[in-house]
Formats: sequence, structure tokens, C-alpha cells
Amino acid sequence: MVEGWSFASARQPARFGCAEQRDAPEIEHAVTYTGDVFFCGLPRPVTLCGLAGEEFVAVICNFEPDSEHACPRCRVEVLAAPTVPCGQERLHDRVLQAAPSALRTQLLQALRAGAELGIWINGPAERVAIYAHVDRIAEGRDALVSLLTGRDRVGVARVLQPTGEFVVVLPQSTRPVIAWAPADVSAS
Ligand SMILES: [Zn+2]
Repeated sequence: MVEGWSFASARQPARFGCAEQRDAPEIEHAVTYTGDVFFCGLPRPVTLCGLAGEEFVAVICNFEPDSEHACPRCRVEVLAAPTVPCGQERLHDRVLQAAPSALRTQLLQALRAGAELGIWINGPAERVAIYAHVDRIAEGRDALVSLLTGRDRVGVARVLQPTGEFVVVLPQSTRPVIAWAPADVSAS
């Protein structure tokens, strides 16, 4: 348990993608998405200060409000944006949807106490299965393994504990499934 840790204290600043203004590339803007979509279904980006998509080029980094190149209006909007939940809080809210069990109760407690996330990765089930450490699972293995085949997208999260780790598989349309893998004592 981390002293003084809570979901409230662990909230993080909201992050935004960065874009350069086409006619003034030295100015960096923060990018967000409106409810609007292109014909292809991709969300239509805008900057927080209101530039439309054709007026900027998205770059692969986060907008840094402290940068000397930051657009002043985007900076104000970013600094005023609500904070976002930490990984533990987001996983906690997903695990609440799992079927009640002793494992679920223990995992929810661990997340509320700030247990470290070993990984939380999303992708096609058969591709991310390797991250579930299935060979080490002692409890809840069968239900978990059945979700780790095929190409449906799932999330795999591991939550570290002193005595082992919780393994959670998060399908998109059904409830999360939780397993337990004790620490490998022979490896230490
Ligand atoms: Zn801007």
C-alpha cells in the first residue's frame, strides 16, 4: 500500500496531441476531436483554439503547454482541462463489471491501494495472449484462456502484488475475467 495514495491524488493532467499551423509551423496547437467524422468514419480533428483540420498538420507528440511555441489560446484551454483518472482507477471501473468473486474483491482492493500495473495492452486476442503469462496462472485459468484466441480485440492487464500478480482480460463486449498467478519462487 502506498502511503497517502488515492484515486483522487493520482489523477493526471489531460493530454492532447500536438499540431503545427500550416501557414506558421512554429506555432504548436493542442488537438482534440469533435463528434464530427469524415466519410471514412475517422474522427475529425480540430485545435482547442478552433482551427479546422485543413489549417494544421498533426505531429506525433503531445502538446506541451510550457513550450515557447505553444499557441496561447490552446495553452489556456489545456491548463483548464479537467484531470483524467489514473490507470488504476480506469481498470478498477472496468473490473467492477466482472462477475463477483473473491479474486475480484482482492483485485479491487489492490487497485484502490495503488497497486502497480505491470502492463495494460490492447490488441487482437491471439496477439496479446503472450502478455497474460498463462503458464504461471494458478487460479481462473480456463475462463481466461478461452478469451485469448482469435482476432477479437481484448485488453490484457497485469496488476503486481508482492506475492504474485492478477491477470485481467478485458473483452470489448463481455465482462472482464480475472486470474491469479503466484510469484515464481524458483526464479528468485
Ligand atoms: Zn491553438
